[in-house]
Amino acid sequence: MSIVAIVGRPNVGKSTLFNRLIQRREAITDAVSGVTRDRHYGKSDWNGREFSLIDTGGYAIGTDDVFEAEIDKQVELAIDEADVILFMVNAEDGVTAMDEDVAKLVRRVKKPVMLVVNKVDNHQREQDAYEFYNLGLGDYYSISSINGNGTGDLLDALVDKL
Ligand code: GDP
Ligand code: MG
Repeated sequence: MSIVAIVGRPNVGKSTLFNRLIQRREAITDAVSGVTRDRHYGKSDWNGREFSLIDTGGYAIGTDDVFEAEIDKQVELAIDEADVILFMVNAEDGVTAMDEDVAKLVRRVKKPVMLVVNKVDNHQREQDAYEFYNLGLGDYYSISSINGNGTGDLLDALVDKL
């Protein structure tokens, strides 16, 4: 089964999307040595196409003290394991230095990478999202993980890449 990883800096909304998409959480949490926290795995499907989903970056919970090296490590592990990468940013905060850092990692990946601009809850946020073209990753999918806007189009495109 194909594996889809959601990567990005803390607080962009990765876990919110993960929880929206999965039907059942797998009991596996994978503590990787040298990485402080785990990854979460789940299963999802769209139009009958099943895939596994990885949510990364539990380490950020309850602290602002997130080391960039740690994020990089999590992202690299997820990228290694995945067939398709969802690189999430958010339109509320705009492009941050940490987004640029993660973009550097995903730009050299030879697998499908889908840039996902989250927190596009309203029309103003659609306008705000344009600045993500500056990441140099081309077109993006705008979604709201909270109200579900755009997630159908994202999933249509995603299952085409599995
Ligand atoms: P993660 O650190 O990337 O896993 O981010 P979380 O999923 O934990 O979300 C971080 C915060 O953003 C939480 O307060 C979420 O409720 C909020 N959030 C997630 N998705 C959206 C969204 O689409 N719109 C808005 N307005 N907030 C969101
Ligand atoms: Mg999370």
